[in-house]
Amino acid sequence: MFLNENHYEPIEPYIFKSGKNEGKYAEKVFFDNPYFIFYIYNNFIQNYQNQNNEFQKHMKWIVDRANSLNPTMLCTHCQKNPVRFFATNFSYNDSEHNSVQEGLRYSFCNNSKCKDKVRTLPTAQISTVYPIKYFVLDKISTANPFENRYYVGLFKKFFKIPAKLTPEKAFNILFDA
Ligand SMILES: [Zn+2]
Repeated sequence: MFLNENHYEPIEPYIFKSGKNEGKYAEKVFFDNPYFIFYIYNNFIQNYQNQNNEFQKHMKWIVDRANSLNPTMLCTHCQKNPVRFFATNFSYNDSEHNSVQEGLRYSFCNNSKCKDKVRTLPTAQISTVYPIKYFVLDKISTANPFENRYYVGLFKKFFKIPAKLTPEKAFNILFDA
């Protein structure tokens, strides 16, 4: 890897020093509520020229690393290839009970046969297909907290994020991305 003066590589997770997540680790917050980190990034970091304080550099690092992560869960249809795409299938009629387990069926790998299986599922005809990348969550975030939480749950499965996630584990997932 080419190292330049803009290169930033943290050695430990970042602890928020103020705000509603004060005392919490940013890496763990990212996997539990990526919308919060994207909000900070979009509003306070992305367009600032001088990203020279620790907070700015670290937030940018988290977003960059997260966006380069690839899903590792195997496609539920063929059980052979890693999942690559998902079709939105959030139901407003049952917004509190949308099941992540059910939602996994709306994901598929690079194989067109698996894509075809998803096409035949209820609501798949009218849904949008996205690549399974973290920046997509920022794109599809809505005012509905149930919907946002549903997609965060789905992504935890796609990327095999452990249920008991420590700040160190969250940091390492991003570091190794
Ligand atoms: Zn497949």
